[in-house]
Amino acid sequence: MAPKDDAGTTAWQPNPEVLKLWPNVSGNTINGLGETEPRPPAPVFWRTDDSTPHAPVMYYFYQVDKDNEAIAEARKYRDRTTAIPVHDIAGTPVEHSAEEWTRLIKEAALELGADDVGIAPWRQEWSYPDRPAPQGKWAVVMAFAQDYEAMKTAPHERAYIEVMGQYERAGNSAKHVSNWIRDRGHFAAPKTGPMTEDVLMIPAAIEAGMGELGKHGSMIHRKLGANFRLSVVLTDLPLTADAPDVFGADDFCQSCQICTNACPPDAISPEKQMVRGSRKWYVDFDKCVPYFVDNKTCGICLAVCPWSRPGVADNLVAKMARKRQAAAG
Ligand code: SF4
Ligand code: SF4
Repeated sequence: MAPKDDAGTTAWQPNPEVLKLWPNVSGNTINGLGETEPRPPAPVFWRTDDSTPHAPVMYYFYQVDKDNEAIAEARKYRDRTTAIPVHDIAGTPVEHSAEEWTRLIKEAALELGADDVGIAPWRQEWSYPDRPAPQGKWAVVMAFAQDYEAMKTAPHERAYIEVMGQYERAGNSAKHVSNWIRDRGHFAAPKTGPMTEDVLMIPAAIEAGMGELGKHGSMIHRKLGANFRLSVVLTDLPLTADAPDVFGADDFCQSCQICTNACPPDAISPEKQMVRGSRKWYVDFDKCVPYFVDNKTCGICLAVCPWSRPGVADNLVAKMARKRQAAAG
């Protein structure tokens, strides 16, 4: 990684080819940066069609490396996940208490490949209004760890290929968990990234106890750090909710600047910003995405985050607990 030059300023400059494709609207405006009133999210960038103003940049991203065999092979994950059939919903629903279904679905999710799982009641405010409203009363949120050694190479293609591999694992598990529910006679629909199309996964994941939002705009999990991907299954199965897991990551970010300093295009705001009525950590879309596209990937911020380093998260959780105890007197 070569984030900044000796003067501490950003050495990287946007690729003119990418700038030529950039639309006249800022991704930050689409995201609602500076807006003080809550409103539904608007899609910005990752879509399977040209329904966003930044679609030409996304198409450029997918064509610029199309002759790279390793990347082309990694991108076939989407076809493999799509090829897993969605089962019909069985005619006779199996009945259990919400507590028993919660135990069973968590057990199934872990057996079917997830590294962690949590449950939140689904809120329609987490969906994009330009797509049909997703069905399902509950979100089963699953986390999938990435290989740290591969991610440390970001923005090298090895990191990109690792991310594609974890999207495959996340997508496949979502499909299998969804089928597990449908085989038992209840509605379920799998959702996975990066083109989730109709849902936002991070707010559901926070609510489901998968971690806290970090300064780098990605989640921090108490075991996996920031080094994981998500998938979600929406379902009408009766379930019980997990609580958000507040273990000190947000507090830690208040006095850490590692990702802010490491981000080559200076995209990570050192302070929380107002976004659609809530104050939160925010990554400047108009800086991050051109760098990401120009380098064919990124994820430097995830790799440098101290929570991502293997063996470190447990110690940081304990450190933040001690800090809270001391503050409480
Ligand atoms: S992914 Fe975006 S925010 Fe993170 S380091 Fe790269 S350019 Fe910066
Ligand atoms: S690198 Fe530091 S500031 Fe950035 S998300 Fe991780 S802990 Fe928070």
